[in-house]
Parts: sequence; structure tokens; C-alpha cells
Amino acid sequence: MAAQHHELLIVGAGTAGITIAARLKRRDPKADVALIDPAKWHYYQPAWTLVGAGAYDFERTRRPMRSLIPKGARWYQDAVTQIDPDKQEVRTKEGRLLHYDYLVVCPGIKIDLSLVEGLADVLDQDDVISVYTNPQFAWEKIRNFKGGTALFTQAATPIKCGGAPQKIMYLADDYWRKVGIRDQSTIVFVTPGTVIFGVPEFRATLEKVLDRKDIMVKFYHELVRVDGAEKVAWYRIKAQAIANPAIQLRNPKPIEEEKIGEDMVGVHYELMHLAPPQTAPDFIRTSKLACAEGPQKGWVCVDAHSLQHQYYANVFALGDVAGLPTAKTGAAVRKQAPVVVENLMRLRAGRTDLWPGYNGYSSCPLVTGYGKMVLAEFKYGNKRASDPLISKLMDTSKEHYSMWLLKKYGLPFMYWNFMLKGKA
Ligand SMILES: Cc1cc2nc3c(=O)[nH]c(=O)nc-3n(C[C@H](O)[C@H](O)[C@H](O)COP(=O)(O)OP(=O)(O)OC[C@H]3O[C@@H](n4cnc5c(N)ncnc54)[C@H](O)[C@@H]3O)c2cc1C
Repeated sequence: MAAQHHELLIVGAGTAGITIAARLKRRDPKADVALIDPAKWHYYQPAWTLVGAGAYDFERTRRPMRSLIPKGARWYQDAVTQIDPDKQEVRTKEGRLLHYDYLVVCPGIKIDLSLVEGLADVLDQDDVISVYTNPQFAWEKIRNFKGGTALFTQAATPIKCGGAPQKIMYLADDYWRKVGIRDQSTIVFVTPGTVIFGVPEFRATLEKVLDRKDIMVKFYHELVRVDGAEKVAWYRIKAQAIANPAIQLRNPKPIEEEKIGEDMVGVHYELMHLAPPQTAPDFIRTSKLACAEGPQKGWVCVDAHSLQHQYYANVFALGDVAGLPTAKTGAAVRKQAPVVVENLMRLRAGRTDLWPGYNGYSSCPLVTGYGKMVLAEFKYGNKRASDPLISKLMDTSKEHYSMWLLKKYGLPFMYWNFMLKGKA
């Protein structure tokens, strides 16, 4: 296959890739833009939490990739296997060699079940579910739950949409109350985190939600193994919590547990929902684009404000794959994309003064029940960054029905009709 060249090459045509391509084409309709992505479908993943609670139709979360490629942009339906930023070239699974002037890296996240022993044998089968991998199956199991211990948990790796593991729990709680089996069940949230949410204003509301719903929480617990035959999830308790058991618990309940030594605990479950372990895709982790050390090790090493690669000036990254100290969400992509596009335009025009315009904005629409939502918006340093316009109308750190309507109807509409068209 003959080598091809594109001025602007985008790896991944998910939330970030399509948004960037659309914005580039709006800024310069003649720009030579190409995307590489093997996927036939493009998914609106934020609605998967609602699918898992029977409140949204899965079919409405996906559209054919072809229908979303901006006019005039080229799409290679192929997977990148290697990026060589020194040679400015990309190799693909089907044997393509593509050269670029500028590269935008946004292939999202890899779900890596091998990081928790036993998980690959049980996930999406029997009683282990995840809205990350099969939201329809999750709903089937939640709908048919007959009581017992319902364990909601998450891996100790970074995960996309850190709020999703608790959102589905609040919805399940609400559903089980409606059908009258909540009093025959104990809900336990087990997390490696030290608090329920990093931003104090939203944390205060969520703590009230946990107490109102009578949900037990275990903090400082890292999931290491799932024993599907015995239905036990094994955790290692973080060192700083062993000496101080009081900080590990909120709303303690008598649940079936096993202990090995002082730092291993097995929690028995009848139903387990989890956010599986997640990493950067392999071809990124092993490339020169990944951070070699530090907290962002393995993720693409970009400047936190301009999103330019720290060593390769013609490379940018955004979305889940970017090594940024903020939550990995589609909402973050919405604020990152204009910065990347502006900076690409400046570089193309021969300018070197890049716009340090990204402040770490991310957002988590924390659904706390059917018809209830807290809109958590924040920026670097876990500082609240609520939209000033919406804040004039209501305190978004509290639960609101209008925010639920935003989540269920407003945000998907905005996504398909504005964001992916480069207009929002
Ligand atoms: C259950 C769940 C709930 C969520 N809830 C919310 C929410 O409420 N709000 C919110 O803002 N965000 C939410 N998110 C997160 C949001 O969906 C992601 O942060 C967002 O999609 C990231 O965009 P991205 O472009 O980086 O990755 P993606 O949108 O995942 O796209 C990555 C693309 O890269 C492609 N790709 C992968 N490998 C290769 C390769 N080798 N070569 C080429 N292409 C490749 C994939 O096929 C895919 O199309 C949620 C996610 C999940 C799973």
C-alpha cells in the first residue's frame, strides 16, 4: 500500500476525534484532515448509565461512524498500531503508512480486565455487571435482582467518568425501592478513594444522599481479585487506613466478609457492578508519546493548558488518553477541543505563542435517582467551576429535576447536533 500524507491526522474518531475534525473543517474548509478509527459505530457513552437503569434506549446511544465524519474529511476505517513521532508517521493494522504534519491523538481508553485477577472470567456473565461494557445486561440483572448484598465498586486505575460507578448505584437503589426489594438488600460501595467525591461542595450533597439511601461505603479498598465461584471480591486495604479503621467506613452494616491478615478483605456479593480497570491503549503506552514517569505514566504527555505534547511540538492529545490531572469525561473534551484547534491554527500560521486556554474543566452529571441530578462542574485542583448562567437559576450542588432533564434530553441533543458538528 502506498504511503499517504495528510496535513492534519487524527487518531481516533470518538468524542474528541469527531469534535476536532468538525472544528478544523469549520475553521478551514480546505484543510486536509483525516481520521483513523476502526469502529463501525460511534457511541454516546454518557447515556449508558441510564441504559443500565432502564431509563434510556441503547440504540439511541449509537450512530454509524460514517454518518458523523465531517464533510471533506477523510476516514480510514483502520486501527493504528504504531506512532513514530520522530518520523512523523503512523502505521495501521491493515498495513497503511500515513505521514502527517500535525497529529491529534485521541484513541480513548483501553479496558484491561487482566489487571484484576479473575475478572475476565466473570464480567458480563452471571452476577458481575458493568455499564462500561454491557449496559443492557446490567439493566437485566438490576431489574431481576431478588435481594442480598449488592456490591458497587471500581478498579484502582484511573477510569473514565469517575462518577458512573455511584450513579448506577443510586439508580439501582431507587429502582429496588420502587419494586419493594430494597429492604431485603444491603447496598455497599467499595472504593479505592478516600472520599465519595473530590470537590467539597458536591461531596457534601453526595454524603447526604448516601445517608438518606442508607448505603454502606468502604473507602481505601483496592480491588485485586474476583472469585466468581464463591462470589467474593477481594480487596487490599491501603496502608494508611489499616491503623485507622474508622476512616474506612460510612454507614456500617453487617455484611458477609472474610479476612486474610490485616490488609486483605473479601466481600461476598449477590450482585456486583464495577467500573473495570482502564489504561491507555497499548500502542500509546509503548510509544514515545507516553509519559515515562510520574502520575501520568503511560498516558500521552501533554502540557496541561495548551494540550501540546511536551516533546513533539506538532502533536496534541485530548480526551481520555491525555495525561491530565483532571477527570476523563466528554465534558472535558468539549472544553479541550477549542484549545487544540486554536493552537493547531496558530502553528500552521507560523506562530509559536500557543493559547494556554484549558483550565482542567470537567463535569460529572451525578444522577442520584430517577428524576434527580447534581451537576458537578470543576477544574484543576478539584475547584468548583459551575456554569455562571445555570448558577443564576439554581444551586447546582443540590439535586434538581431540571438537571435530570438536562442529562436525559438536553446533553444528548447538544452532543449530536452541536458538539460533534464543531458548534459547541
Ligand atoms: C458508563 C460511562 C458513563 C459516562 N458518563 C459520562 C458523563 O455523564 N459525562 C461525560 O462527560 N462523560 C461521560 N463518560 C465519559 C466519556 O464518554 C468519555 O470521556 C469520552 O467519550 C472521551 O472521548 P475520547 O474521544 O477520548 O474517547 P472515545 O469517545 O471513547 O473514543 C475513542 C475512539 O478511538 C478509537 N480507537 C481506539 N483504538 C484505536 C486505534 N488503535 N486506532 C484508531 N482509533 C482507535 C475508538 O474506536 C473510539 O472511536 C462516560 C463513559 C462511560 C463508559
